[in-house]
Amino acid sequence: MRRSTVLLSAVGLLLAATSCAEQAHDGSASVPASSAAAVGTAPPAPQQPASVQANELGSVPVLMYHQFSDHPASVYDRTPADFRAELERLARENYVPITAGEFTSGRIDIPAGTHPVVLTFDDSTNSQVQLDPKGDPTPDSALGILLDVSKAHPSFRATATFFVNGSPFSVTGATKALTWLTQHGFEVGNHTLHHSNLATLDPAGVQEAIASEQTEITKAVPGMSVHSLALPYGVMPKPGSLAVQGGAGGVAYQHRGVYLVGANPSRSPFDGAFDPAAIPRIRSEAATGPEAQFGSTVWLDRLAENPAGRYTSAGDPDHVTFPKSQASQLAEPLRSRARPY
Ligand SMILES: [Zn+2]
Repeated sequence: MRRSTVLLSAVGLLLAATSCAEQAHDGSASVPASSAAAVGTAPPAPQQPASVQANELGSVPVLMYHQFSDHPASVYDRTPADFRAELERLARENYVPITAGEFTSGRIDIPAGTHPVVLTFDDSTNSQVQLDPKGDPTPDSALGILLDVSKAHPSFRATATFFVNGSPFSVTGATKALTWLTQHGFEVGNHTLHHSNLATLDPAGVQEAIASEQTEITKAVPGMSVHSLALPYGVMPKPGSLAVQGGAGGVAYQHRGVYLVGANPSRSPFDGAFDPAAIPRIRSEAATGPEAQFGSTVWLDRLAENPAGRYTSAGDPDHVTFPKSQASQLAEPLRSRARPY
C-alpha cells in the first residue's frame, strides 16, 4: 500500500484523484511500469493524445471465462495454462483490467496509452475462486493466477467481475469468497439464481430469478450493491427492460450493465450507439476450434492489427479524448467532457 500511495501522489496530475481505493486494492495499482521506475522524479507530463494514439471512442474487449481444467470438457473451458498465457498477452499488449461496473459507469481510470479490458467469469465455478484455510486465494485457481500475473506485471491491475449463481463458490463458501472479492476491488455481478433461460419465463418469473440471486449475494455480503447482470446463455427476457430493472419479493434490482454471450468487442461506453442493456462479450478461446473467429485469440489479434479502432486511454478520466475525425460517434450528453484533437 505504501508504495502505491507514493506513486499515486507522484502521478497525481496524470491520474484522477478519485477512485484510488478501487484501484489500489493490493498495492499493485494501475500505475504504469515506467512510472514505477521513476519514483521521486516527475512523471512524464500528460502526453499529447496523438502521441499515444488516444481514442476513447474505440472498442473494448469484454472477455468471458467459465471453468478452468487441465482437461477441458467443452469450448467454454480453458486450461489454467491457457488462461495464464492469455493474461500475460493482455499485460504485454498494454491492457489494464477494469470491472464491468467501472466500464458502464464510464469511470475508466487507466494510464495514457493503455487499453481497458473487462475480465468476466460466469457460473461461479470452484475453479475460478478458491481460498486456502488461511483465507488466501489458491495459486491454481483463476483468481490466484490473475493475482500472480498482476504481481509480475504491476501495471496489469488485478480485478475482474464474477457473475454468480445460486450460493456461489461452494468449496470456499459464498460468504468467505464474496467477502474476499469485494474487499480486494473485484466486482460481484448477478447471473440469476438457477441459471435460467429468461426467455422461457413470464415477467414475474424473470424478476424472481434475478432478485432471488441478488438476495443470495447480499446475504453473503450485507450491504453490497449489485450493478451488473450477465444473461444466462446470453438470452434476453421479454421484455428486455426486466434485465435492467425490476423486483420480486420486496427486493428491487437495477443494473448499469447487462451482458450477453457473444461475439465481438463492445463499443466504448462513450459512443452514442453504446447500449448498456446489451453488451457483447468475447469467449476466451484459442485461435482454432469451434467458432474461433468469435473467440478471444482471434479478436485480440484483430484489435492489435487495427490499433486505431481500439480504445486507447489519454490518461485523463475526467474527459473523453478522441481524434476529431470520430467526433460524430460521441454520445451527445458527453459533449461537455469531450477533448477532440
Ligand atoms: Zn452461465
